Amino acid sequence: MFENLSDRLERSFKILKGEGKITEINVAETLKDVRRALLDADVNYKVAKTFTDTVKKKALGQNVLTAVKPGQMMVKIVHDELASLMGGEAAELHLEQKPAIILMSGLQGSGKTTFSGKLANMLKTKQHRNPLLVACDVYRPAAIDQLKVVGSQIDVPVYTEPENKNVNEIALHAIQEAKAKGYDTVIIDTAGRLAVDEQMMDEIASLKETVKPDETLFVVDSMTGQDAVNTAKEFNDRLDFDGVVLTKLDGDTRGGAALSIRTVVTKPIKFIGTGEKMEAIDVFHPDRMADRILG
Ligand code: GDP
Repeated sequence: MFENLSDRLERSFKILKGEGKITEINVAETLKDVRRALLDADVNYKVAKTFTDTVKKKALGQNVLTAVKPGQMMVKIVHDELASLMGGEAAELHLEQKPAIILMSGLQGSGKTTFSGKLANMLKTKQHRNPLLVACDVYRPAAIDQLKVVGSQIDVPVYTEPENKNVNEIALHAIQEAKAKGYDTVIIDTAGRLAVDEQMMDEIASLKETVKPDETLFVVDSMTGQDAVNTAKEFNDRLDFDGVVLTKLDGDTRGGAALSIRTVVTKPIKFIGTGEKMEAIDVFHPDRMADRILG
């Protein structure tokens, strides 16, 4: 991931790195290159503009023009700004209730079911929690089966009511079951459509209202670039979710979603998905991601 962006940024900094003494024109040209590289990586244009404006202000403020190593100084400023663009600090899950409730949202194919399994597995193995997965996709019987397959891979039970079409009821029953059987975390996988539609939004908004989750996570395929950002905005306007999960960062993504989403929806990216396997999940660290981008 980010190979293209990394290469482009490296090339942008080359001029500055080679110069003993640099001029305002060198800096301006480098920043123009950086902005183009960001746009080509599918970063939202407003985000890219604000980014380079901020870097410029900082560079001039820190006297980059008279610095001994102006190239390195610029790289450091860009690094810190990239990290801050992606949220600065890693954001944690806040699981308070007993049982804690996590609601997944997102379009079909974004990776919700896979991520529900990955998160259950992570909470179980790393935090010694005792999760229960809940199948609330009542439209596609295959979705229920898929969650069961995931559950059996990680040895986490899956609550289903195949005959019931009322997701609010299913979720409330699952929470009762969790209380009765001692599961401390309920992870609710929901239905998604191929595009945002009112019925789906009504359903998940009502589900959120009903179960009052500790965390509502929005799962999105990072390969969809600008669309990922637009979908995030639509879901956030409706659901006011708590965090974003960026999936498929192992694929041929240009990285724009990772860089724009935080600014556009002002919600943190909490996790990333880096493969189809249950272990392919990472807590999102803006700082480490900035390291990766700058190579
Ligand atoms: P849902 O419809 O939102 O529940 O999406 P699924 O969980 O069924 O995922 C859709 C497809 O994406 C499946 O083939 C998954 O194996 C795949 N997938 C999910 N997450 C990742 C990921 O992080 N990386 C890759 N490469 N594939 C993923």
